[in-house]
Amino acid sequence: KTASKTVTDYIRTIPDFPHEGIMFRDVTTLFSDPRGFRLAIDQLLHPYVGTEIDQVVGLEARGFILGGAIAHQLSRGFVPIRKKGKLPGKTIEQSYTLEYGEAVMEVHDDALKPGQKVLLVDDLLATGGTAEAGIKLIERMGAQVIGCAFVIDLPDLGGRKRLESMGMDVHTLCS
Ligand code: 5GP
Repeated sequence: KTASKTVTDYIRTIPDFPHEGIMFRDVTTLFSDPRGFRLAIDQLLHPYVGTEIDQVVGLEARGFILGGAIAHQLSRGFVPIRKKGKLPGKTIEQSYTLEYGEAVMEVHDDALKPGQKVLLVDDLLATGGTAEAGIKLIERMGAQVIGCAFVIDLPDLGGRKRLESMGMDVHTLCS
């Protein structure tokens, strides 16, 4: 019965990607299904309907797909936070820790204005390191994170606790 399908039903798990022993949660099957994609977008933005949001910020790469659709639905603009070296203009950068080593995220330094209220979007919350880097970039521009919305929470990896301990509102659709 299509009508009773939940977001979880559209997500597929690929074992041993990108490394042996990793169970990769694949959201391309959620995005490619018209009902699944609308369900995810509707549920992601539901808590924020009627709240003041000036901009939607998405984290590379799947956060762009979700964030773009949410921004359009809310009639707001979209701002990308990208991996280092992809943005053409003047940027600020934030490094964060990965399982092995370090990575750097960037945003255009004029992408947000002080005082703007932001909804941060990504597909999946694991350790919270990526989202934390995004929050830091947003706050360094003087903007304020109103909420952090993800399709999937992996609770064992502690991301929700990490973001909540920073005072963040965390909204996830399934775990
Ligand atoms: P974190 O920084 O919270 O540890 O990892 C979250 C980031 O890694 C997100 O940007 C997310 O897209 C990506 N990620 C990690 N594991 C998975 C996975 O199993 N599936 C998907 N779709 N993304 C993942």
